[in-house]
Amino acid sequence: MAPLKVGLPRALVHYKFFTLWETFFAELGAEVIVSPETNKKIREMAIRAAPDEDCYSTKLYFGHVLALKDQVDYLFIPRFGSNHKINVGCPKFLGLAEVLRSIFPDLPPIIRPYYSKAKSGHKNIRLLFIAFSVGYKFTKNPFKILHAFRKSVKAYKKYKKNLIIDENTLHQWEHSEEVLNDRPILTDNEKPLKIALVGHCYVINDGYASLDIRKKLCELGADVITSEQMPRNIIEQYMETLDFNMYFDYEREILGTIMHFLESKTVDGIIHLMIFGCGPDSIVGEMAARFYKRKPETLLLQLVLDDLTAEAGLRTRIEAFIDMIKRREKKVAIHLPTLRIS
Ligand code: SF4
Repeated sequence: MAPLKVGLPRALVHYKFFTLWETFFAELGAEVIVSPETNKKIREMAIRAAPDEDCYSTKLYFGHVLALKDQVDYLFIPRFGSNHKINVGCPKFLGLAEVLRSIFPDLPPIIRPYYSKAKSGHKNIRLLFIAFSVGYKFTKNPFKILHAFRKSVKAYKKYKKNLIIDENTLHQWEHSEEVLNDRPILTDNEKPLKIALVGHCYVINDGYASLDIRKKLCELGADVITSEQMPRNIIEQYMETLDFNMYFDYEREILGTIMHFLESKTVDGIIHLMIFGCGPDSIVGEMAARFYKRKPETLLLQLVLDDLTAEAGLRTRIEAFIDMIKRREKKVAIHLPTLRIS
């Protein structure tokens, strides 16, 4: 019998958990089909299909679902709330499966497990329950499900271990003893610029949505670190200094990274990618701009991306930003306000 096909939309939390999910379904014997990387066709389907008020990232999710819907037996759209007992992810992740089902009644069956430590007090054992309830759709062998679960958790932990650096590695990168991502392209005698690229993982890792910003920075001679690579203890140290709890989990990573580099001054510039229509981003964007006013030594560029952001315009803005950094290094006196460009 041909294996059942399960479709994973390559958007939003997929960028966080893809290792876990892909390994789990593959070990169950399913054929895993991940939607293609975001492209023009997916973007156009997304813009036509998604509600206008959704953020750009959520809209793209719609495009990825539509790209998969005729190829698979099941769509996997988890309702992921939170992996922390207080802090939460984006509420949009919770309602996506229902919204999609109501707009497109002809979608294949949706596997939509719910998990939230913060709102529903779920414990780790809940993950095992989810593994079995999902796994039985693909096999009746409980040992196979248990094996798939264990293997996927192991693969996920390994992925995270490789992704998130420790404090020592951060210091090595800050002192140019380590390169964490693609090597910057440099002309003779040029020194690489240290740039922190900050934003949601599903933006900075989506080449189309971010208009290939990582590649552009590399071409401009930038040695990049991303917010998702940052040591967790550093993020948490900065969050402790706030006089309230930043309860959006992903925004903790973004704000903590910006605060660290404004304070430590160990990078030449920070680029904060924000998404048009994102509530949490607008809160954190404002806070980052205020911290920057207090510590303006490291330049901060805030770029708001949406489906209308043009590649040529973005390139010009990044080039101008890099140029300002270089001028600053040559001690040309400039004072910059936060650059927020949409
Ligand atoms: S956190 Fe912001 S960008 Fe991400 S899905 Fe929610 S609203 Fe959209």
